[in-house]
Amino acid sequence: MPAKSVTDYIRTIPDFPQEGIMFRDVTTLFADPRGFRMAVDQMLHPHAGEEIDLVVGLEARGFILGGAIAHQLSTGFVPIRKKGKLPGKCIEQSYTLEYGEAVVELHEDAITAGQRILLVDDLLATGGTAEAGISLIERLGGKITACSFIIDLPDLGGRAKLEAMGMEVHALCA
Ligand code: 5GP
Repeated sequence: MPAKSVTDYIRTIPDFPQEGIMFRDVTTLFADPRGFRMAVDQMLHPHAGEEIDLVVGLEARGFILGGAIAHQLSTGFVPIRKKGKLPGKCIEQSYTLEYGEAVVELHEDAITAGQRILLVDDLLATGGTAEAGISLIERLGGKITACSFIIDLPDLGGRAKLEAMGMEVHALCA
């Protein structure tokens, strides 16, 4: 039997969260011990030997990945959350989602200017969420070394958008 790849652990659920959307469900990847390790190891691979000070994860699946990656890199982890969830003083950024509008927040004291940051999420679609995260990080003076995802849906333009902003983008599968 051929070895499984990360893609093999991800399932697609039609019509979630609304009709016409083919939702890539990574909970099956996270639930599998080999799948989860494979995803985290492969996300770390391009950054071997790099100096990274902090991992920032986008709510919510970016927390699961970002926590594991930060542990491996021996860095801290900082969450970017949907508005109203973080208890301290925040800066905020609104953005357009694949299906709607949203606002994300970052604690204003979570990043020190000049820190080298790896931004993590599960999936890159239009790039709106990542762009909002990048904006928050850069407003606090963070320097993003790369943006890392499990899945890139290139037809939705996220990678092109982030690369046009000068970002290094990594993804494990499309
Ligand atoms: P974007 O802002 O790039 O359009 O959408 C990416 C964001 O929406 C990510 O935070 C991601 O978690 C979520 N997202 C959008 N579509 C999907 C999907 O099909 N599967 C998963 N797991 N997340 C999605």
